[in-house]
Amino acid sequence: MEKKTKKIFVNSISLLLFFLVIGVLLWQTQGHIFFLFNFGYIGIAAATGELLFAILPKEKKVIGRKISQLLIGLYMLGVLGFLGHENMQIEGFFLYLLAGIFSGPVLHFLIAKIGGTLLFGRGWCSWACWTPMVLDFLPWMKPKHGRLKYWGIIRYLHFIIALTLVLILWYGLQIENFDKYTFYKFNWRMLLFGNLLYYAVAIFLSSILKDNRAFCKYVCPIPVLMKIGSRFSLWKIEIDKDGCIKCGLCEKNCPMNIKLLSYMKNNQRVLSTECIGCQQCINICPENIIRYTKKLDVGFKECLNFKNENSAQTIKIQKL
Ligand code: SF4
Ligand code: SF4
Ligand code: SF4
Repeated sequence: MEKKTKKIFVNSISLLLFFLVIGVLLWQTQGHIFFLFNFGYIGIAAATGELLFAILPKEKKVIGRKISQLLIGLYMLGVLGFLGHENMQIEGFFLYLLAGIFSGPVLHFLIAKIGGTLLFGRGWCSWACWTPMVLDFLPWMKPKHGRLKYWGIIRYLHFIIALTLVLILWYGLQIENFDKYTFYKFNWRMLLFGNLLYYAVAIFLSSILKDNRAFCKYVCPIPVLMKIGSRFSLWKIEIDKDGCIKCGLCEKNCPMNIKLLSYMKNNQRVLSTECIGCQQCINICPENIIRYTKKLDVGFKECLNFKNENSAQTIKIQKL
């Protein structure tokens, strides 16, 4: 077997094994075989996406990512959420923590959105989340403008509002006294209402800002948690400085408006906690010098392209 092909299969099988190990551990410690089924399914979905991404030609690689996103997103939202009555939103996570219930949403947040970020950064955001599962079908994968300065603060306000709302519901409405059935029904309604609202806001923002990821950049509260671990993420984007022809395509096509070349100039990997690991930059680079590598590093400076700074940035790219 050719070395490259072997590596592709090893990566996909490693991903599957990673999830299977979690499934077996939870099955053995929690006593429910459902965990094995759940993480086995997620592992198969992620490994299939990864495999397709690796073997498809450059212009079709995005299909692999979208398949993973659809398989995992539909399962989490449709099967666990709507059929299983688990509220996978951040409000559900807070409620289950208050209720002391160590199940669906708590496990999901601990594994995918907190612990997993130490390995894969914000990979969840491009390979599994059910919100961009819809948004990524909109036509503005490449944002029309740079980021809107200061709008990112909305996500922190949203985080505080979500937490406050849950605390009011818990202590004010005394949800703690609900029986199990009413508690799950209440959570299910929150999931339904919350998701409809999220989708509506996300599609509206994407359309007016001509940017598929506008909701992710400004409104979603989950990166408040994810950004902590993703600073230390093992896997990150790296550019081979020597081969760069400064065409700027990687930056122009980055859905999160990251200044990849600033990191390259500083001999760093892309340390931004805004990187969602979509690997769009890898696909677009004409010199094939961008890779997804694993190392230990950390950085606290966010290098992002903001609106009205793009023309200045283009000039800087020529000078790098
Ligand atoms: S920022 Fe929020 S909505 Fe966007 S992909 Fe990440 S978790 Fe999903
Ligand atoms: S730096 Fe690359 S992998 Fe990260 S968000 Fe931008 S295009 Fe995606
Ligand atoms: S796309 Fe590749 S060659 Fe072009 S600026 Fe980015 S890293 Fe350099």
